[in-house]
Amino acid sequence: MSRFFSEKYADLEPYVPGEQPQDRVYVKLNTNENPFPPHPAVTDAAQAESRRLNLYSDPECWELRRAMAKRIGLSEDQLIMTNGSDEILNFAFMAFCDLHTPAVFADITYAFYPVFAQINQVPFREIPVKEDLRVDPKDYYQAAGTIFIANPNAPTGYALTREEMEGILEQNPYNVVVVDEAYVDFGAESIAPLVREYDNLLVVQTFSKSRSLAGGRLGFGIGNQEIIRDLEAVRYSVNPYNVNRMTAAAGVACLEYDDYNRKNSLVIQDNRRWTERALRKLGFEMTESMANFVFVRHPDVEGETLYREAKKRGVLIRHFNVERIRDYNRITIGTREQMEQLIETFKEILGVKA
Ligand code: PMP
Repeated sequence: MSRFFSEKYADLEPYVPGEQPQDRVYVKLNTNENPFPPHPAVTDAAQAESRRLNLYSDPECWELRRAMAKRIGLSEDQLIMTNGSDEILNFAFMAFCDLHTPAVFADITYAFYPVFAQINQVPFREIPVKEDLRVDPKDYYQAAGTIFIANPNAPTGYALTREEMEGILEQNPYNVVVVDEAYVDFGAESIAPLVREYDNLLVVQTFSKSRSLAGGRLGFGIGNQEIIRDLEAVRYSVNPYNVNRMTAAAGVACLEYDDYNRKNSLVIQDNRRWTERALRKLGFEMTESMANFVFVRHPDVEGETLYREAKKRGVLIRHFNVERIRDYNRITIGTREQMEQLIETFKEILGVKA
């Protein structure tokens, strides 16, 4: 830290993204990316748009919002587009949390939430997940703060039902409930349509997972018009051109070819079931994941050892050095070939004969 770094950040612990090592080719199952490339029409659209990079992007993201509004049956003013969903999550901390309105989230959830709270200097309260790592929706009733809830949760993959989410919304009429649906397209139910009924709901989604655009950085928020206006005020005060031209064009094409994304998502869900069965045969235990990853532990191998041994063999998975989940690793679901390689690698580590 230089002597110039503001004192207000003295305790800041930045978010640590999953590693992206360049030393060799890995079977990369550590950052929940989609193993399938975007549809060729998507990369074509981005490339065509690159000829206009001398011009600023549309700060209203009009075309993309129109395409998305049509896609999900809401209106353009119920949508805000952002640079990845991380950006809108940060905007939500800026817009809806302060000294009197803390952020409230699970102790085991997306590790960026406490960092957003810190950088925005707002207090936060962590609600422990249950012994089995599930979120109990009742723990969020009258939470007295702005709730951030990942559904499905990360890194456990557990999802709450629509009814359970509605319970939380009904029990927090005076606070915003931010539902982070980054992984919702892998088998869980989105509550986006509920923004018509609940003025305290903000749903956050991303093109990074089910739409194969992690590197494009495109996320969005869905909420009632007033919530969206608040977030737009923040966005225009931070970075009005937050979505670049190529990504906006890619996003529009991506929605045109959403069937391609949906099919890939079904393949990934199928691969998840295959992987779970294969892992169980090797003695692994796991949470019930509705996402594009599984969260697993083995009674005979420490979490960190498994991570290290797999890395040595060219397979990257994600280990979190966090007390309650130290035994576990989060493994992204990739192609069938990648998952077969994973299983072969685990067999080798466990000393299981083929
Ligand atoms: N929410 C959750 C729960 C995530 O795991 C991630 C990705 N790591 C994000 C949001 C942010 O994704 P992106 O910024 O790529 O949209």
